Amino acid sequence: MHKVRRMLVWAGVAWVGFAGLFFGVPATADESPLYGYSAESSRTERGLEEKIRAIPSPDNMRSYMQRLSARPHHVGSQYDKENADWLAAKFKEFGFETQIESYDVLFPTPKERQVELLECKGEATADCKVKFTARLEEPVLPNDPTSNQKSEQLPTYNAFSKDGDVTAPLVYVNYGIPEDYERLERMGVSVKGAIAIARYGHSWRGIKPKVAAEHGAVGCLIYSDPADDGYRQGETFPEGAYRPKEGVQRGSVADDPIFPGDPLTPGVAAKKDAKRLEVKDSPVITKIPVLPISYGDAQTLLGDLAGPVVPNEWRGNLPLTYHAGPSKAKVHLKMKSDWGLKPIYDVIAKIPGRGLPDQWIIRGNHHDAWVNGAEDPISGLVAELEEARGFGELLKTGWRPKRTIIYCAWDAEEPGLIGSTEWVEDHADELAKHAVVYINSDSNGRGYFGAEGSHTLEKFINDVVRDIQDPETKLSVWKRAQLAQIAFAGGADERQEARNRGDLRIGALGSGSDYGAFLQHVGIASLNLGFDGEDGGGIYHSIYDDFYWYTHFSDTDFVYGRALAQTSATAVIRLADADVLPFEFTDFADTLQTYVKELKNLLQQKQEETRERNHEIEEGVFQATFDPRRPTVAPKTQEVAPFINFAPLDNVVIELARAAEAYKKAYDQASAGDEFAKASAQDINRLLMESERKLTNPDGLPGRPWFKHEIYAPGQYTGYEAKTIPAVREALELQHWKEAEEQVGVAAKTLQQEAALINEAAAKLSALH
Ligand SMILES: [Zn+2]
Repeated sequence: MHKVRRMLVWAGVAWVGFAGLFFGVPATADESPLYGYSAESSRTERGLEEKIRAIPSPDNMRSYMQRLSARPHHVGSQYDKENADWLAAKFKEFGFETQIESYDVLFPTPKERQVELLECKGEATADCKVKFTARLEEPVLPNDPTSNQKSEQLPTYNAFSKDGDVTAPLVYVNYGIPEDYERLERMGVSVKGAIAIARYGHSWRGIKPKVAAEHGAVGCLIYSDPADDGYRQGETFPEGAYRPKEGVQRGSVADDPIFPGDPLTPGVAAKKDAKRLEVKDSPVITKIPVLPISYGDAQTLLGDLAGPVVPNEWRGNLPLTYHAGPSKAKVHLKMKSDWGLKPIYDVIAKIPGRGLPDQWIIRGNHHDAWVNGAEDPISGLVAELEEARGFGELLKTGWRPKRTIIYCAWDAEEPGLIGSTEWVEDHADELAKHAVVYINSDSNGRGYFGAEGSHTLEKFINDVVRDIQDPETKLSVWKRAQLAQIAFAGGADERQEARNRGDLRIGALGSGSDYGAFLQHVGIASLNLGFDGEDGGGIYHSIYDDFYWYTHFSDTDFVYGRALAQTSATAVIRLADADVLPFEFTDFADTLQTYVKELKNLLQQKQEETRERNHEIEEGVFQATFDPRRPTVAPKTQEVAPFINFAPLDNVVIELARAAEAYKKAYDQASAGDEFAKASAQDINRLLMESERKLTNPDGLPGRPWFKHEIYAPGQYTGYEAKTIPAVREALELQHWKEAEEQVGVAAKTLQQEAALINEAAAKLSALH
């Protein structure tokens, strides 16, 4: 799946730190040792890293992409299986111990799809005449050689939409997120009994039918507005990179923020004999039928809407006046799927470690697509393959990693992170014992490096990209990301921080690709890496995401593919061979402090907003400013949020910062004494491996026990976007004050265990000398 645009996910918040910046890519001579390495092992490691960075070839990536995206390869298709077999053969050829692990998962494919506009005389549908029938199809484009593979293409649809056949008036709900419904209520318009039409954007797509159903809608259409995804952005395909009139964004609408993976087997692997829920009982399938449509189809439907003209921010870029509705005519929406189980194929390829085989460094990218999927996911997968070839070349020289390296190509990511989730659930016990880090990529493009992930790896990934060269500017990837962060900063504080903080901040992981189960279910420190920001995109999840599009409009010479391969290969080998695992805690503690500050601000802001609104209601502001000819509904007074005791979090954040400093000090001393070779260093590694696990709570988050991580989770009403310290933050957002205060205690307790672990690791490091 992967977000449409990644655009600089390095986050930014005010912080005053130390300055120590490299300019350009440093030479390897006379440098301080790599973090986690002794002076001697660091010299060997730098030599290996240079070798592996020299291997990835843009020409190979181009030919892999041509092969892997030659035909549609969605879950259950013939080419999906052929790709899995081809990938497994490649990994074997490179010298990996390779196998395919298979599961049987629910994957609905459409049997009937219909959207019509009906002119009706009475209430009965028999009295209706069809005014317009939506096309629901993406046309073949003569320039684009794979757009004509119709017999193998999945039709345009949203997987895990409930079956349904409804006829109702249409209501426009903007992006279809909760605040849009508050606005709609003020306009005096309700979606109760209606079909909601929402535009893509500002939330993960599955949130739109969920919120529509919660407000009483009986159906949901999701369309791509040219303002966000179409001609307003640039020339449309095939002349340009952007979404054409009939282009449609497919995608899953399963409620993944409850649990991702196979909708019938939450928490366990979808093996043949697994106990399965009935389809009708799975809580993640939508409550109402949903279909995605193009702006070509949406135009006629939106043109029929009556009712109030929508606020300025709600207006898209179609040549019509945007009304909220309801529509004059009725819309007929019909959706029916084949609800069969399909086999999926995860390719798992290992290089056993020499020395520490029980510590695993895991790297993955998915291989399934909605259609041909050259960008999503093949652009990331071809980089991964070239990294694997690089490790193969090192193996030929007699090199073995210290730790075990596992390369994975996941199936069934698109319908809901299914391949990776089932594999993680299958191997959860082993993973909890052995996994050190999971590194993910998905789509890749031209531009700036972006990273999201565990903040205990923030320093590590900053260090890695200081050693990678940007193919366009020849600056280091790190330097370019820093300068971009200054250029695109939201304000003076962010600019200041980008200039002065030693490490660029990385964003938190929510959802949207295969790191989910690793990080949020088992508690494995994870990173998601990629380049983006310079190439336009308008083919996401359409038949036009193919080799022709990618080689005309994205990373056409695959130099950013090479940069991604160099980045990930460096990260993998540096983790695999480290003397002391390169986790670092001062960045983590600093990040936690900003999260706690955000929670307090959120509460304060809620209090102030409510107080102000209540005041305005009392003094008659709404009555006085209503236009009597265009009536709106006044908001109701609300109780102001109570004060909440954040002290347990305030205290633990200080404890964490102290523990992190103690660890840093002990590390620096051990490093200066070059003491990492001692056998007792292994006790420290075992503790460090546990550091992310310690951030999980076996009971899981309130109402969604599959999600165990107390710091990172996808938002229940945002989907992709991370909610940090989610149990507290979401309780505040939903105004569950008592629960928020309880969850402050739960999160603080989890963080206390983390602080204790860091202190223990620091003590063990000090004991080395
Ligand atoms: Zn993807």
